[in-house]
Amino acid sequence: MRKPIPVNEAVTLVMDHSSKLQSEEIRLDDAYGRILAEPIIARHDVPPFDRSPYDGYAIRAIDSIDATEQTPVHFNVIGDIGAGHIGEQAIRAFEAYRIMTGALLPENADAVVMLEDTTEIDEGFSITKSFQPNENISFQGEDAKKGEELIEAGTIIHPGTIALLATFGYGKVRVGRRPKVSIIATGTELLDVEDDLQPGKIRNSNGPMLQGQLERMHIPFQSFGMMEDDLDACTKIVETALNESDIVITTGGVSVGDYDYLPAIYERLGAKVLFDKVMMRPGSVTTVAVVGNKLLFGLSGNPSACFTGFELFTRPALIKMMGGTEPFVPHMKATLAEDFLKANPFTRFVRAIWNMEADGPKVIPAGFNKSNAVSSIARGNCLIVLPKGTEGYRAGTEVDILLLGEEQGVGSFLSEI
Ligand code: AMP
Ligand code: MG
Repeated sequence: MRKPIPVNEAVTLVMDHSSKLQSEEIRLDDAYGRILAEPIIARHDVPPFDRSPYDGYAIRAIDSIDATEQTPVHFNVIGDIGAGHIGEQAIRAFEAYRIMTGALLPENADAVVMLEDTTEIDEGFSITKSFQPNENISFQGEDAKKGEELIEAGTIIHPGTIALLATFGYGKVRVGRRPKVSIIATGTELLDVEDDLQPGKIRNSNGPMLQGQLERMHIPFQSFGMMEDDLDACTKIVETALNESDIVITTGGVSVGDYDYLPAIYERLGAKVLFDKVMMRPGSVTTVAVVGNKLLFGLSGNPSACFTGFELFTRPALIKMMGGTEPFVPHMKATLAEDFLKANPFTRFVRAIWNMEADGPKVIPAGFNKSNAVSSIARGNCLIVLPKGTEGYRAGTEVDILLLGEEQGVGSFLSEI
């Protein structure tokens, strides 16, 4: 008899057995989607010099104090400074440089007049209002100060992070190594994607789906294709995969059927099974085992269960191994917009679609929702979490939803499931 454990206990067990891999230095060009193994420290001030935030004129504010509609003040323009250029001279009384956005402020200038606030006259311009010292200046260090820690290690690198790394000249960056992952689909009924259907057979959809789930995490993988339900052959392949990877994901064969060989394979390999029954639907048979510091994810063959098992257990483990400190799928509250009346002996994860409506986020199940469903995985953009209960849930109930496909995770998992 298998002993079911709560979902959050299963997640904790997986996380406790996932350990951070070494770090490696990679080119910034390859850094998108990786996880920082070093904090980003400001190597210099940003901006690195006082500069103009507008296209306009650099002046001495003191020269403008008497400017009014009735008494315009005239300035002589002594040159122009485009971004990337510098003004050669210090400005003197009632002199100005024409200056463009991003250009270094010339000596003695302490204010910038926007072009829109000036009237052109011979040899220069006039203004009809005064400016304060430091008005319209983008100051050295206002964005970041040299030495400041701006982003912590363990953060995922997204396009904004790349911008910051580029700003400081990080041509290379230290990131967590990505786990080596193998995928094996088991089941004598499985056909390849391009095979014609035959009686009793179905196409392997879990393998390609898992590849997609890994791809959206920017994690490369090795696919061992499909295996017939044959204990010896399967054991060999799982063993080979284990030797070549940090994580082996299998689908199918973890249940208690006649041809479900994964439990026997774990035994033959001397793997320690962390759990083989979780209080969840779909995917209650999801099994996770460890050999040394390698993890074996035995996901159910049922497509919805396979999908959910990956998102709940495999994904956070992969992120933790890369050194990520926000490994969990983000969640939020939404209002159930449709009844879901099936009673749940276990926590249920319902493939669903959420939308923002005028009175807040609404969520509806994405259609046919049995564990063997594949259509609802394609339609859904989230998973509704329905705690176990003797009754179903009525429209209008506030529920937790797990947001799928988000790049940025969170630091903790839902605690009550
Ligand atoms: P199992 O977990 O092996 O008992 O399989 C449960 C159900 O999922 C069965 O209906 C299988 O035919 C189906 N199944 C198993 N593997 C896959 C797969 N790779 N792609 C799609 N369906 C699968
Ligand atoms: Mg099977």
